[in-house]
Amino acid sequence: NTEDPWRPFDKFRVYMADLESTLHYSLRVELGAQSVFQGRALTSLKAYISVLAKYFPGRPIVTNLLKDLNSWLQKQTGDRISYEAFKEKLENDAQSPNSTLPDGVRWVGCQGSQPHFRRYPCGVWTLFHVLTVQANSKGSDPQEVLRAMRSYVHNFFGCRECAGHFENMAAETLEQVTSLPTAVLWLWSRHNVVNNRLAGALSEDPQFPKIQWPPPDMCSACHAVKDNGEHTWNLTEVLKFLLTYFSSDRILTDYLE
Ligand code: FAD
Repeated sequence: NTEDPWRPFDKFRVYMADLESTLHYSLRVELGAQSVFQGRALTSLKAYISVLAKYFPGRPIVTNLLKDLNSWLQKQTGDRISYEAFKEKLENDAQSPNSTLPDGVRWVGCQGSQPHFRRYPCGVWTLFHVLTVQANSKGSDPQEVLRAMRSYVHNFFGCRECAGHFENMAAETLEQVTSLPTAVLWLWSRHNVVNNRLAGALSEDPQFPKIQWPPPDMCSACHAVKDNGEHTWNLTEVLKFLLTYFSSDRILTDYLE
């Protein structure tokens, strides 16, 4: 929507408005491209909604909806669920007084300088970074969130080229994730691999260049220099930084409906 007013934001912070916009787009638009979920797609849908219900650090009205949707979904024992049935449950819940999901997007930290830049893909990264950080303190299975992300992207993510790239990376290295903190670091480092590949590409918003993140002005302690002068990351500091940056109590609630 080109008439969207520009919303001033802090580039160094995470916004709940982006996370809710991502949920809206994912549950109502991206999943709506499927007519029916069965087999792996159904398993994938269940795993995705389950990690959202467990770890989405949202407003109670939104987490109520996710939890209710999840209990309904896990109770479905048939081998297929139509998107229509899923949507009916979602929209029913969204109308109850104590649960909702704003109907529409309001990008803030994921705004782009043009409508075709950033937005939903930025929201997907942000959402899963936040979920790995939540799971770090609340979860027990180190790969739970990453497996849900992998299969969501593989089955449903609209950018099919992105999905192929991500699946290759996951197939190569996801098995190495054996602890909750390494899951947080795995997603961070895979995201930097993608940033590196996309730097200078046509999909890059010139106002938001792809960099190796976090840059020194966000976390100077994250950066180190090896004896031979090469750049390296201080992983202890990076982890500390990620756990703070994506933590639920630092998420800003500006611009929420
Ligand atoms: P994004 O890369 O979307 O990042 C969003 C925000 O996360 C940044 O603004 C920053 O605050 C933060 N961030 C940046 N780097 C990191 C990091 N390493 N760790 C933690 N936080 C970070 N596009 C393609 O053209 N080709 C692809 O193959 C492709 N594959 C993708 C695969 C996946 C799984 C996803 C979710 C997206 C993919 N995209 C791909 C889209 C692309 O990665 C960007 O999301 C999109 O170009 C928008 O970029 P952005 O500037 O908003 O920053």
